Amino acid sequence: VHRREDWFWKLAHWLTDRFDVLYFETLNLKAMQRLWGRKASDLGFRSFLQILEWVAQKKGKVVAYIDRWFPSSKTCSGCGYVLDELDLSVRRWRCPSCGSENDRDENAAINIKQVGASTCGRGKVSQAQPAFTV
Ligand SMILES: [Zn+2]
Repeated sequence: VHRREDWFWKLAHWLTDRFDVLYFETLNLKAMQRLWGRKASDLGFRSFLQILEWVAQKKGKVVAYIDRWFPSSKTCSGCGYVLDELDLSVRRWRCPSCGSENDRDENAAINIKQVGASTCGRGKVSQAQPAFTV
């Protein structure tokens, strides 16, 4: 048990050193919990997240839980307009509402970060930093 906790701490530090925002899709979370529950203990993944949240808070990073169906790549990060559809092959798109040009991944990262910031109530602290540092 002690060894596993040790590994949780290491992993939490590794992740928070590399990312400003860590997000987990809530549906994946349930699937992961099921997997971990079978392997080790039902509490394994929960306690990892608790450690991760604690470490992230100390370093001013954000841990966010995003609904799988949150349309992060097709929501305009500038004005909030949501496209009906966005083909996977489209890397950039122009928002029909405000006219800003959105890079698929960058735009998604900004949206996820905004959800994360509002989830944790740390908007002002994190919004000045880039969403991903790698
Ligand atoms: Zn827009």
